[in-house]
Amino acid sequence: MNNRIFNFNAGPAVLPLEVLQEAQAELLNFQNTGMSIMEISHRSKPYEAVHNQAIADIKELMKLGDDYEVLFIQGGASMQFDMIPMNFLTAGKIGNYVVSGSFAKKALKEGKLFGATHIAASSEESNFTYIPKQEDIKLSDNAAYLHICYNNTIFGTEWKYVPETNGVPLIADMSSDMLSRPVDFSKFSMIYAGAQKNLGPSGVCLVVIRKSMIENLPENIAAMLRYDTYAKNNSLYNTPPAFGIYMLGKVVRWIKNNGGLEVMAKRNAEKAAIIYDAIDNSNGFYRGHAQKESRSFMNATFRLPTEELEKQFITEATEKGLGGLKGHRSVGGLRASIYNAMPKAGCQALADFMVEFQRKNS
Ligand SMILES: *Cc1c(COP(=O)(O)O)cnc(C)c1O
Repeated sequence: MNNRIFNFNAGPAVLPLEVLQEAQAELLNFQNTGMSIMEISHRSKPYEAVHNQAIADIKELMKLGDDYEVLFIQGGASMQFDMIPMNFLTAGKIGNYVVSGSFAKKALKEGKLFGATHIAASSEESNFTYIPKQEDIKLSDNAAYLHICYNNTIFGTEWKYVPETNGVPLIADMSSDMLSRPVDFSKFSMIYAGAQKNLGPSGVCLVVIRKSMIENLPENIAAMLRYDTYAKNNSLYNTPPAFGIYMLGKVVRWIKNNGGLEVMAKRNAEKAAIIYDAIDNSNGFYRGHAQKESRSFMNATFRLPTEELEKQFITEATEKGLGGLKGHRSVGGLRASIYNAMPKAGCQALADFMVEFQRKNS
């Protein structure tokens, strides 16, 4: 069907086919405006309806009330690594970080530019094969926040619990597992996600933040880098990434129409099990990077016996329409990113290929 492959890219990543088809159908003439969504004013009624519907649907899926703001910000998840300390790391406070992977480490590095930081826990000594346990997390005094990365895209580990912080605001980078499963989002003071993994195209970062977090922000932060600018203006202070928000809105609606987060979680667990079973049943031919109890349902990382075999695997898989499987250089090997939009058939096709490849090459 229309030559689409099973796309295992880590990000930008696969989008639901229905969403792409809807966007295609509307591309030349959005809701009888005679224009595409990219060509109309962000102050127009048709655009505002798209924007506000996306916000309402996100809040509904996250089961959050009016004490939270949903914001759309540019600059990707990476800009949040800067905005978080700029806005919250005030004098005398300490930014706390769990270092569980590359992006968590980048967030810490940026935090250091703005104030004092503290590593509350780390799994770096094992090349990030696991998520630290609650009892390993040691918060500093005067903690401004605890920052965690909920799904470590590069290493393939995912938090299975929400850490207890005893009142310290909890901030999570959920770029690669946002809306993939139910989470008690009300335990978080802020959640953010670059859209291009699980929510839409690149260009927009979703930020969901408790209103009390942004009531008294320092005066000396530039308008575009302060959360209250976005909150006060419904993320329309300047021209927003309108096409990205439109697509994100469609993806969120697709999640809702397909049964919401409970159904996503069930499907994602089944999909991940297909691949992890293929790894676990291979008598060591495939070796998972992540420890079993920390395995991500979004990014499965694994190695083969040799780098030559890994190269050959990627070449032959690509020929069979299984794309984007090359792992990140810091882990090596392979990575199958199986976000919400990856169908179960894609995971099955990969698992079948893995069995066949092992049979031929061991
Ligand atoms: C991809 C990713 C980022 C970086 O996102 P950008 O939008 O490219 O800045 C940050 N955190 C996590 C967990 C990611 O997967």
